[in-house]
Amino acid sequence: MNCIFCKIAAGVIPSTKVYEDDKVLAFNDLNPVAPVHILIIPKEHFASIVDIPEEKMEIVAHIHNVINKIAVEQGFDKTGFRVITNCGDDGGQEVKHLHYHVLAGKKLPNYEAQDK
Ligand code: 5GP
Ligand code: ZN
Repeated sequence: MNCIFCKIAAGVIPSTKVYEDDKVLAFNDLNPVAPVHILIIPKEHFASIVDIPEEKMEIVAHIHNVINKIAVEQGFDKTGFRVITNCGDDGGQEVKHLHYHVLAGKKLPNYEAQDK
């Protein structure tokens, strides 16, 4: 097993768990960029969103359902949050195991500030 998030999913590398079920794990990002910075990963390895076969795409709905549960539990369903999945090199994906960033707890910077 060479993938860092597979190791986290298997408990080989420790993480601060926020939510877990048989299909997904949510844990705090090691280098948070917001007061709340949670990563949600499927336990099954997919390199990124484009690597999920169509017949397994329900994992994405499940991940979003889990995000909603965490948002309600932590109260940021009311204040707002951002969900990001980086894909590939241009998308800035560093860890090649599908993951969703959930950012909350402050007014997040607007994308319009970025260079085109
Ligand atoms: P990416 O750039 O691939 O979208 O995001 C990878 C994220 O994983 C980064 O925000 C980084 O801080 C986080 N990360 C990398 N290694 C670890 C780790 O071992 N544990 C945790 N909790 N987060 C990690
Ligand atoms: Zn993996």
